[in-house]
Amino acid sequence: MQDPASYLAQALKELRTRRAWSLDQTARKTGVSKAMLGQIERAESSPTIATLWKIANGFQTPVSSFLTPPVEMSVNGSIGSDTDRYVRGLTVEPGIVVRSLFSYDARFGFEMLELVLLPGTVRLSEPHAAGVTEHVVIISGPMELLVDGRWNVLPKGSAVRFAADRPHGYRNLTMHPAIFHNLIHYPADYEESVGDPGPIP
Ligand code: MN
Repeated sequence: MQDPASYLAQALKELRTRRAWSLDQTARKTGVSKAMLGQIERAESSPTIATLWKIANGFQTPVSSFLTPPVEMSVNGSIGSDTDRYVRGLTVEPGIVVRSLFSYDARFGFEMLELVLLPGTVRLSEPHAAGVTEHVVIISGPMELLVDGRWNVLPKGSAVRFAADRPHGYRNLTMHPAIFHNLIHYPADYEESVGDPGPIP
């Protein structure tokens, strides 16, 4: 298995090559500095989750494009052990581990991520593109979700859908790690066609 940082480095380089974007151009499109992009492409630094989203938004591509693809499993396969969660996931910043459960597939229009929030972690998310919807299912909780300006306490097993094209956030103020699944649905025309830079979201 490829380690998450080198997978990200390679995915970013490949996407940039496919689009024929220079580092300068990519910096302008994503709002991430050229220096930082260079470091990520050389696998010298792990971006914060905010940076990861800026890159995905700039390329107008789902964030799972940059995460190690999930292992194909049979219907009887397990969703992965606790160790798997940490080993396969990308630690994007202190306190947050993210991994892809289902990579984005245009046929289905969604990607599904698993996020682990360590105790005390607060993550405020900038709005995603218009029409993006998140479906959050709490696997291990409680944790809190910021929707419409209000923090809601969600116990284990809760399922919440909300429009993610506005500010929202996730936090864990407990003493135990919180785990949630996030199914992110994109509008049908979301993914930018190869070679066509299109508008910046
Ligand atoms: Mn979000």
